[in-house]
Amino acid sequence: MRDANRRPWRFGVVTISFVLFAIPWVAHPQPRTTGPSRTHVVLLGTGDPAADPDQSGPATAVVVNDTPYLVDFGAGVVRRAKAAVVDRGIKALEPTNLHVAFVTHLHSDHTVGYVDLILTPWVLGRRVPLEIYGPSGIKAMTEHLLEAYRVDFATRTNPETGSGRQVAEGHAVNAHEIRAGVVYKDDNVTVTAFPTKHAMESYGYRFDTPDRTIVISGDTNPTQATIDACRGCDVLIHEVQSLAGLARRPPAFQRFASKYHTTTAQLAELATQAKPGLLILYHHAIALRPEVNPDASSPAELLSELSMRYSGHVVVGHDLDVY
Ligand SMILES: [Zn+2]
Ligand SMILES: [Zn+2]
Repeated sequence: MRDANRRPWRFGVVTISFVLFAIPWVAHPQPRTTGPSRTHVVLLGTGDPAADPDQSGPATAVVVNDTPYLVDFGAGVVRRAKAAVVDRGIKALEPTNLHVAFVTHLHSDHTVGYVDLILTPWVLGRRVPLEIYGPSGIKAMTEHLLEAYRVDFATRTNPETGSGRQVAEGHAVNAHEIRAGVVYKDDNVTVTAFPTKHAMESYGYRFDTPDRTIVISGDTNPTQATIDACRGCDVLIHEVQSLAGLARRPPAFQRFASKYHTTTAQLAELATQAKPGLLILYHHAIALRPEVNPDASSPAELLSELSMRYSGHVVVGHDLDVY
């Protein structure tokens, strides 16, 4: 839950609180509005660890009543947020507005944008602390990053060496280590974490807003928890690996992927049970330009593998798509 409603332990500028609630899927009434949607999903980064110039690292924004909530902060997250402002007209994603984020797990492709998220909006004028929710280890990662940039914080907030634009509160981070259950609630959203199956402690997140339910998988093998979290949700954003693309990867990666990621065939089966209104594929190891990675699948190949096994509405997500 938010800091205002709790009494977390404080460690300097890092705060940690453990959030333990029952998983109450049935406890979330889902009122619907009949007017224009108040909730938008903005795909900030749909790529994977590859240094693909067309796909930033994993990052998704759920924007509710002009308030942004991020899930993961891969490479390029803040610049993609600004691109959503100038190219898509999503003014809520102005970098200084970014101050609540949820991380699915601590793999680098989902977190290398963390220091960008801490520093860039602050340098640009954010005056409130970041509230970060994630698995065990997010507190230690936060402490180390803050220590690494100690000189920057000190000089920018010093009247002699700073520009006068940055206040100390704006680079503080409240890091909340979570467990499965409701981890955050305000007037716009209830956010529920559910356990996923990956190479480390990992969570997917379900957002219940006044007009939509949105589920984001993070990196995971297929899990019943994801199906239970969705159950007819409006939008399911799920990672996926192309079968054809996977067959071109080394055997060691194939073994890793079979334990910790999801193939198109597996996702088709999962989505058939979960029944989302819209299935968005992300973290999909595709190459939009063959010269970036000749072995990767194309979006068309990925989509055809899914569509031949799944009759619901499915799209391949691209950076800066808005749903
Ligand atoms: Zn991962
Ligand atoms: Zn990943």
